[in-house]
This record gives sequence, C-alpha cells and structure tokens, in this order.
Amino acid sequence: MLSFEQARQLILENISTTGSEQISLAEAGGRVLAEDIAAPWDMPLWDNSAMDGYAVRSSDCGKIPCRLEVTDYIPAGALADGVVLAPGCAVKIMTGAPLPSGADAVVPVEETEMGTETHVTINELVKPRQHIRFRGEDVLAGECITAAGTIVRPPEVSMLASFGRVLVPVYRRPIVAILSTGDELIEVGRTPGAGEIVNSNTLALAAAVQEAGAIPRIIGIARDNHESHLDKLREGLKADVLVTSAGVSAGDRDLVRIVLEELGVKQIFWKAAIKPGKPLAFGLKDNKPVFSLPGNPVSSLITFEEFVRPALLRMMGQRQVIRPYFRAILRDDVRNKESDRTTFLRIRLEREGELFYAATSGKQQSGLLKTMVNAAAIAVIPPGQGPLAAGEEVDVHFFGDYIELLEEAR
Ligand code: AMP
Ligand code: MG
Repeated sequence: MLSFEQARQLILENISTTGSEQISLAEAGGRVLAEDIAAPWDMPLWDNSAMDGYAVRSSDCGKIPCRLEVTDYIPAGALADGVVLAPGCAVKIMTGAPLPSGADAVVPVEETEMGTETHVTINELVKPRQHIRFRGEDVLAGECITAAGTIVRPPEVSMLASFGRVLVPVYRRPIVAILSTGDELIEVGRTPGAGEIVNSNTLALAAAVQEAGAIPRIIGIARDNHESHLDKLREGLKADVLVTSAGVSAGDRDLVRIVLEELGVKQIFWKAAIKPGKPLAFGLKDNKPVFSLPGNPVSSLITFEEFVRPALLRMMGQRQVIRPYFRAILRDDVRNKESDRTTFLRIRLEREGELFYAATSGKQQSGLLKTMVNAAAIAVIPPGQGPLAAGEEVDVHFFGDYIELLEEAR
C-alpha cells in the first residue's frame, strides 16, 4: 500500500495548472498570476522629494545655520518644467513633487526656520542626495514586478495598480463537482428517520472547495445502484475535478470505483496507509483528476485537506501547496495503536511562551465529528509510532484558513 507521502506525491505529479484568464485587478486578490509582468516605466518616474521641505544645492549649505532665498514653490502634482534652482537659493517643495533642476538634496521643513516669506534658514547639516527618491530607484522599466506563480496579495495589488494594470492574467479556478453516494442519505433540512443519515458531506466538501479558492458544483446524491452512479458520475465528470464521498471501500455496494472505470477513469491508486481515510482512491479521466473519498464525515474532510486541497492549489498555480509543519508538544497521552499507517490527530493548538502545545480535541475515532469541529490543527504521526506520552513532540499543521491559537491557555 502507498504511504501517505507517496500517495500525495503521486497525486501532485499528475496535476497541472488550469488555463489562465484575464480578470480585473480589483477582483484578483488571492488569485495566482499566470505570467511574469514587467514594469512599463521607471518607478519613480522622475526624481522627487521624499519630504515636505526645501530643495537645495547641498554645496550651498556647507555651514549651518545657512540662509537661502526661496525662489519658487512646487506642490505635489505640479510640474517642475523650467524650474531651475539657482545657487544660494531654495525651492519650497512638497512630498512627491518633482525636483527642480540644480537641486541635489531636500531639507525637511522640520529642519528649517522660515525667516521671512522670501527666506529660509537651514539648521541641520545637509548631505548630498538626502530625502530624494530617484528615478527608477524602486523599479526600472522592463524589470519583472510580479512573477508567474505569485499570489496576488495587497502588496501585489499595490505594485500592479501603481503601474496602471487594469487586467491581470491569473490561473482559472477549477470547477469541482461534488457527489455523495449512499442509499442511507437524505438531504439537509429533513429530519432523519431510522436508518437515514443526513448528507452533510456535500456541503462540508463544498465549503472546503471554496476555502481552497476553487468553485464547487454540487451534483447531489448517487444511490447505491449502477444506473444512478452512472448518471451522476457522468454528470460530475463534466467539471474540472470530481470529488465523490463514500462507496469506495470494499462493501458489496461500493460502486464508485467500478462505475468510474466504466466511464474511462484510469485508477492511479486505491488505498493509502493513513488513518483515518484508508480507502481513498485517485484516478484520471484523460487529465481530469477524480478523488474518491471515504464516507465518514471526518475521513472525507481530512483526506480532502491532505490530498485534494494541495491538488486544487496546484491547479490554481500556487507554489506552496502543502501547509508548513511545525513541532508541538503533546498535552495528553495518545493511545495510538502501533500501525503501519500515518495517523492524523485532530488537535487544538495552544502557545505558552515560545512553545506550541497540541491538545487532542477529544476522541479520535473517524465517526466522531465533534472533535473535528474543535480542531484547529492536525498532528501527523508517522507510521510505526506506538502510543505517545504527554510531553512528546509531534509534527502539526494548521487545518483550514482560519487560525485559532489559544494563548497561555493553562
Ligand atoms: P461508506 O464509505 O459508504 O461505507 O460510508 C461510511 C460512513 O459514512 C457511513 O456511516 C455513512 O453513513 C457515512 N456517510 C456516507 N456518506 C455520507 C454523507 N454524504 N454525509 C454524511 N455521512 C455520510
Ligand atoms: Mg455507502
């Protein structure tokens, strides 16, 4: 059986980015740029003042205090065309305004004294080039300002906007079909009778797809018969990605893999050495990824987190598709039976001083949803690991995009 890492690697090897589209910069936050973007001009575009103050020739200010005649005024937004700073003079200037020719320094207004309307006294030493933003100092025309694969965050928006970009090329967000299977399922909103289970996975997976930045398309429920599976799976395969839940273990009504094969989906693997979530399957229809997740609500969300989310991020061009791990100290004993599988523990994270602590959020059986709700992170316990004692260190990563870290909880 594939290890956790092998299974994830095998998935990622088979995933490529979706095509790109041009969208408005105003809507590009969180998306990933599909092309390098070069600066169309120098930034700043002209030498300008970094302060409100006076443009001077530094050589006129060898001795302080020194008194200069104020011959001109350049407010922000004005042109400096034709304004020449004569020797022994100063030009009043505002932040961002272009420097007059002849000036090689700006003296902030705080370092001056206004003697009369026409003269200024400079009280601090003046270094050549001080308080000037030089043309091209930040970015030169032609320089790459944002590389392909960069996530558009507010700083990238700022950079692109300052160069006048209205549209930007980003990777398309894949449409992810979500299909639940099982005769026991009833739709959300109804009260379950004997033997009935509310279909919570569809909405949970849709929320997870959305959180990853992709677009969920709900297909509904396939019943445990061949015809219904054929119909719904065929529908699901029209999307960019298909994610199914349940019906993928070895039960006699577990039809998902059988019918996917009939529909031309090539199975890449079935089962990975993980707990929970072992019966997960991954296949490809041409290049379209198909994830068959187990039905237990906990297993389906954890396998989504560990396998589907990285794949979706890769499709959307992200470079870092696996969440960073860090070490945390177990708060409590974990009665982990030694196994050849990687175990995912649902935990709460606490910080005390510089140390992170992992508190198991309760019983870890895959049927128990409450511990999932209480979990802010997942501890990844490698195979071969037996019971763990409080005080031992484990690898953890956050779970979901909303970080909850309890400070000094005890
Ligand atoms: P299965 O993988 O079909 O054996 O299902 C495993 C468990 O997950 C069973 O208890 C199912 O009732 C439950 N389950 C399957 N599908 C869903 C779903 N869509 N929503 C909530 N629970 C489900
Ligand atoms: Mg079932």
